[in-house]
Amino acid sequence: MTTYERYERRRPQKQKEEQQQQRFLRPRNCRFCADSKIVIDYKNTELLQGLVYEDGKIRPRRQTGSCAKHQREVTQAVKRARHIALLPFVGEILR
Ligand SMILES: [Zn+2]
Repeated sequence: MTTYERYERRRPQKQKEEQQQQRFLRPRNCRFCADSKIVIDYKNTELLQGLVYEDGKIRPRRQTGSCAKHQREVTQAVKRARHIALLPFVGEILR
């Protein structure tokens, strides 16, 4: 079984239309570049929660639209937040 198949198995398959719409809705520009007021900080759990899956994994750049520079900051912040237990290493979806 490939990693991708496992990934698909964990997340229930959605309708094709819905999937395509989601792909379409992906932001084109990095929102952190667009708005300099947003600070990527490990204490800002509200922001970080939107950048990880429910199972705790960090969402990839292709989904969030962040640029490489800001994705690195996001990764660092999420890892720091996990270390001090503000974010989970493993979420509740996985059994
Ligand atoms: Zn950026």
